Amino acid sequence: MIFIDEELCKGCRICTEFCPVGVLEDSTTINRRGYYVPRVVKEHDCHGCRLCELLCPEFAITIDNE
Ligand code: SF4
Ligand code: SF4
Repeated sequence: MIFIDEELCKGCRICTEFCPVGVLEDSTTINRRGYYVPRVVKEHDCHGCRLCELLCPEFAITIDNE
C-alpha cells in the first residue's frame, strides 16, 4: 500500500521520476500550500522497493509492505 501525505508534499517530482515501474504520476491536484502532488496510477505494479519513500525529501510517502 502506498500512502502519500499530500499536505507534506512540495511537488518536487522526485518520486514520479525515480519510481522504476511508473507507479506514481504527476497530477493536477494542488495541496493547500500550492504544490502539485503526485498520484498513484499503477499500484499493482509496485514491488515495494521503497525508493520513493527513501528519496522523498519531505517524508510524505509511506510504503506498507504488509
Ligand atoms: S515502492 Fe518502489 S515500485 Fe513502489 S511506488 Fe515506490 S518506487 Fe515505485
Ligand atoms: S518526492 Fe515527496 S515531495 Fe517530491 S513530489 Fe513526491 S511526494 Fe511530493
